[in-house]
Parts: sequence; structure tokens; C-alpha cells
Amino acid sequence: MPESSRKLLSGLALLLGAGLGIGWLYSQPLTGLLVAALAALAWQVRWLVGFDRALHTRDFRLFQHGDGIWQRIYSRLAFERDRARRHKREYRRLLKEFRKSTDAMPDGAVILNEDNEIVACNRAATVLAGLKRKKDRGQRVDNIIRDPTLARLLHAEGELPGVDIPSPAEDGHWLNCRVVPFGAGQKLLLLRDVTERIALNRMRRDFVANASHELRSPLTVISGYLDSIADDPDLAPELGKPVAEMQAQARRMTTIIGELLELSRLESAGRRGEEDVIDIAALLAECRKAYARDDEAPGITIEAGSTAKLRGRRDEIDSLVRNLLSNAVRHTPADGVVTLSWQAGPDGAELVVRDTGEGIAAEHIPRLTERFFRVDRGRAREDGGVGLGLAIVKHVLSRHDGELDVTSTVGEGSEFRCRFPASRVEAGRPIPLASGAEGA
Ligand code: ADP
Repeated sequence: MPESSRKLLSGLALLLGAGLGIGWLYSQPLTGLLVAALAALAWQVRWLVGFDRALHTRDFRLFQHGDGIWQRIYSRLAFERDRARRHKREYRRLLKEFRKSTDAMPDGAVILNEDNEIVACNRAATVLAGLKRKKDRGQRVDNIIRDPTLARLLHAEGELPGVDIPSPAEDGHWLNCRVVPFGAGQKLLLLRDVTERIALNRMRRDFVANASHELRSPLTVISGYLDSIADDPDLAPELGKPVAEMQAQARRMTTIIGELLELSRLESAGRRGEEDVIDIAALLAECRKAYARDDEAPGITIEAGSTAKLRGRRDEIDSLVRNLLSNAVRHTPADGVVTLSWQAGPDGAELVVRDTGEGIAAEHIPRLTERFFRVDRGRAREDGGVGLGLAIVKHVLSRHDGELDVTSTVGEGSEFRCRFPASRVEAGRPIPLASGAEGA
């Protein structure tokens, strides 16, 4: 028992004992006890009222000295109050330091709650995105930075790669936006000025497009002359082979230039514009026709599991299918099988090109969509591969909100799965697999 309690109890016992003794002297022991108890109660009520008053006036002088219970209560209270003050000071200091360090960051950082409302932002965010620290607090960030790609990023489940959007604060400037989840349902929106990268990319794209364009005309002339020379009956026999080789190389250059121009077009064309409703099952059948008379091509099977249509740009989807099919045919022996499949469901649709060909080693798969990447450069050159086909496929897919998923086993075959979101699919009814399957 603490000393103060022991003192209080012994004082109380003494007082009651004295009351009882004096009462007994006057033959009124109970009255004496009662008077002593009332006196003890009055004493404690006095301290209680005094403490309550001190709480209001904050004048605790009465409780600062001594070792009674009320002094102990006060000293504990004072200790807790001082501790709370110290913590508050420390918290303010940390907050100030945090503010100073986030303000020193060149990138914008915006703390959002689960409804995408602004909780706080640093100075860079006010400069880069034109946010107002006090005025915009509590506002939904997608109401202030209005961009459909940012809205998609903010509402997506899980972490997505960043998106580039035009700066709402400065014309001609671009921001890269990333969303990182943290805490209980909060998110951090990170903004980085990528104007320079975008400008460099545009320069590179324009350079490739211009150079390709300029090379096309002289190449057409060279190819024309080569064709005439090759057709000349008086051509010296020893020149036959070199001219044929020159023709093959000219054709290869024409393909490279054509594909580079297609890539530039895909990269620079805006996303808006006319879109078609594409009958994918019919498109697959059309693309298969190109190999109908090719004896060295493997069998091509179509599995159209749905009559659903895809909303997109017909020429781009056509190019996607032709690129994937041409790859599958080139990498599959004549006795193998290439399967083109189209399935749609409530979560979206999938266009799959599967083959039973040579397959691709796992370490090459992540690099397949890089420009000019070829697994076997020497062989690719022989079979006409340029290394731009899958880069085109990737771009077409990203322009149609799709994704490419590649799985492959060396010696067994590969599968290129193109996934499209439900928003791109025009409903159709599922058709039984057996009736949709056709052989080449
Ligand atoms: P290319 O014009 O050379 O075919 P792509 O970009 O279309 O270029 O393909 C890149 C590389 O991926 C090819 O060189 C090839 O090695 C590999 N590849 C693509 N599709 C297949 C496939 N179906 N089977 C095996 N390898 C493939």
C-alpha cells in the first residue's frame, strides 16, 4: 500500500477512535463516532472541491507540496500533462521536418484517402499539378486533375504501372503519375515531370518515321530496277545469283521500313477516332486464307467459341492477327498445328494463337516485344523475320486496352494470349466449340 494511503487510513482511524473515545466519556460513543466520521467526510469534500476549483483555475499551488493522496493525484496529473506536451512538441517537430523534406522533393506527392480525396500534398504537387494546399483539401483529385487515364489508374484494383498525362498546370508539360497504396486504405499519388522524356521520345519517333519515309522512295526505285534487271533475258548468268540476293535484301528492307512506319503510326496516332465493330471469327478465317496454298505451312485450326465482336480499329487488329499467325506458321513445322481461338465471357474476351512449334526459352519471353529482338538473329534473317512484329502487337493491344500473355515450352510450342477488357466486347452468344472448329 502506498505511504499516502497508509497515512490517510491511519489518520481516519485515529479520528474515528478519538470521536469514539470522547463520545464514550460523555456516554455517547455512537454520537462521538458519527461526529468524527462527518468531520472526516467534510475534510475530504473540502479537498475535492479545492481540486475541482484548481482544475478550473489551473492554480494547483495547494497541491504542489506535501505527500497526501491529493498531492499524489496532482503530481501524477502534472506528470501526464507534461508528457503529453512533450509528445505534442515532438510530433509538431517531426511534422515540420516531414513537410520540409517532402517540400524539398522534386516530385509531387499527394496523400489521398480511399475516396481519392486530397488529404495533403507537398509543394512540388502544387507547382506540377496546380493543386492548392488548403483550398483543395478534401476535394476529389480526379475532379481537379481531369484525365481519363489518371481516373482509370485511381480506380484500378492493385498497383498499376504509371501513366503519362498532360500537366493541368502548364501547357506542353507532361506528368508521369503513379499510385502507391499505403496505410489503411490510403494512397500516395506521385507526380513526376517527364516533359523531357516525352519530347525525346517524340523526336526519336519523328526521326524514325521521317528516315523510313525518306528511304522508301529510293528503295522503290532500286527494287524496280532490280526487278527489270532480273527479268532481262540477256542478263549474264553469273549475275543471276547476286541480283536475286539484291532483290531479296531490297524486299527485306521494304518490310523493315513498312513495319517501322506502322510502329510510328501506332505510337503517334491518338486514341480517339473512328472505331469499328470487328467480327473476329470472320477475321481469323480471312487471315487463315493467306496460307491456304502454302504446302509448307502447318495446319491452321479455328476455334471460334463466341460470336461476340470486338470494338477497335480494324486495320490494327488485322495486323495483330497477321503478325501472330505469321510467327506461329514460321516457327511450326508442316506437320504441326496452329490454333486460332476467340472466346468471350463476362470479364472480357481472349484471342489466342497457339502452335505446336519449336517454342521459346523462358529467358527470352520478357524481351519478345522489344523492337528488333529476335531469339535467333541468323535464322530470323533467313526466314524474313525483322523483330518488329511483336512490338507492333504490343502497341496495338495497348491502344485497345488489352494485354499480351506469352507462355511457351521449348520443343512443345507457344501460346500468345491477347486479353481484351469487357468494355471492348460487343455481346454475342457463345457457340458450341465443336461447330466452330474448322480445319485448314
Ligand atoms: P520477327 O519478325 O522476327 O518474327 P517478332 O517480333 O514477331 O519478330 O518476334 C520476335 C522473336 O520472337 C522472333 O524472332 C522469334 O524468335 C520469336 N517468336 C515469335 N513468335 C514465335 C513463335 N510462335 N514460336 C517461336 N518463336 C517465336
